[in-house]
Amino acid sequence: MELPRNLGTRVGILGGTFDPVHNGHLAVAEAVHQALALSNILFVPAFLPPHKPTYTISPFVHRAAMLELAVANTPGFSVSRLEAERVGPSYSIDTLRTLAQSLGNQVHLFFIIGMDAFAEIHTWKAYRELLNYASFVVIGRPDHCQQSCGQTVAANFPGYTLNEAQGFWQGESGQGGIHPVAMAPVKVSSTEIREAVRQGKEIGTLVPSAVADYIAAQGLYR
Ligand code: ATP
Repeated sequence: MELPRNLGTRVGILGGTFDPVHNGHLAVAEAVHQALALSNILFVPAFLPPHKPTYTISPFVHRAAMLELAVANTPGFSVSRLEAERVGPSYSIDTLRTLAQSLGNQVHLFFIIGMDAFAEIHTWKAYRELLNYASFVVIGRPDHCQQSCGQTVAANFPGYTLNEAQGFWQGESGQGGIHPVAMAPVKVSSTEIREAVRQGKEIGTLVPSAVADYIAAQGLYR
């Protein structure tokens, strides 16, 4: 499997459909990169997203190309196409296992997830095993990030306790931690962008300009 070079030893994984990538995704990546002093954020577009409703998702090549344009000028951000190398739905457990094996145990993986998705984590395939390969980074609103995160941890991750001094939950040794990161919500979604393009509206403030140019040139979302 081909991975970007020089990822460093603290690598954040931001998975998604990215149809298209937008400024909210980039803001999350920047916040986590800074909050946890990560060496790199690896954006991983899903080949077949298991959790998406059945609207027609754009071809993988377009979604990955837009991500590459979006991160091209940001040192510390990169893209992996590894989910296109498997057949069937893109489960996070398979992605994390593959990445952990490829990068080796010198590299600590941080799996980034929004609070809404984290609250539903018990519906994910092998969700507790995810912590054998990575720590979780849970993005939540500043007013109740730690509280909401704590409720989900208590309900789904027995044995995890809050390390008050360091502000994250710890399990048994060898297992990843669960780190809340507070961030003011950025009001943008891929759905909104697809709808705006369909209506012929400007999207220049919602996505990087290279992504807006790509969408126009390829005639996406019309
Ligand atoms: P859609 O509107 O098509 O459902 P989306 O904008 O939610 O898409 P995804 O590619 O599904 O984008 O999101 C990837 C990850 O980024 C998910 O974990 C999602 O929760 C998170 N995310 C998306 N938009 C934002 C945002 N504005 N602020 C914070 N996190 C976001």
